[in-house]
Amino acid sequence: MNRNINELTWQEVAALDLSKDGAIVLPIGSIEQHGPHLSTDCDLVFSEKFLEMALAQLAPEVKIWRLPMMPISKSNEHVGFQGTWALSATTLMAVIKDIALSAKANGFRRLVLWNCHGGNRALLEVLARDIRIETGLMTFQIFASGAMPDPLEPLDPREPDYGIHAGEWETSMMMAVSPDRVRDDKRDCAFPDFQSETLALELTGATIGWVTSDFMTSGTWGDATAASLERGQARLGPLVERLTAVLSEIASFEIKQT
Ligand SMILES: [Zn+2]
Repeated sequence: MNRNINELTWQEVAALDLSKDGAIVLPIGSIEQHGPHLSTDCDLVFSEKFLEMALAQLAPEVKIWRLPMMPISKSNEHVGFQGTWALSATTLMAVIKDIALSAKANGFRRLVLWNCHGGNRALLEVLARDIRIETGLMTFQIFASGAMPDPLEPLDPREPDYGIHAGEWETSMMMAVSPDRVRDDKRDCAFPDFQSETLALELTGATIGWVTSDFMTSGTWGDATAASLERGQARLGPLVERLTAVLSEIASFEIKQT
């Protein structure tokens, strides 16, 4: 089954039976600085590769199709670093809303926003709800490292809160999926100056509006020197398996009141 909806003709799309099951996935990446050691298309490559691997594992009867990658998104937290290309929140929301209208016009009832860039998360949550209200589509957002439990213990206890960008996780994953994008001799370790129980960048009771250049000079958040191919490979299988399971469930998910 060809899951790339853009490779079908209009009549083939029209012939899809989407009255019950079926979902269209919009993969979202970003192009932004990823420290001195990772290529700027890191999140884009993750979004593409993880999805590609999950789609290959889906049972043939599961009705999931995908759109081509949306390569640039809201990554203005890296403003000031070369290599960063960003859409504003309002532009990104407007574009995805238009794509949602097209999904509906094509007969889909479910839209999946598959995203590998942390800076998009808050916006996509707002957007998923707005699209639900404005179009009636069931809208899901999936974030790679957020939705997929990490089977490995972090090597540095600061990593879960502060190793959020180009650190051990992303560097190990890149070694596993596209090693040419890792500049091995440039890997560094950098954590922000403050460590707090109650105030962190994400995931705690109080958060701060930040940009990378507020705290970091190399662009790395976390310990990229601790990354390894083995750690990347150990995560890749469970991550893809989990994504496959999530997509399979979404394909036939129904919203119903009790
Ligand atoms: Zn990233």
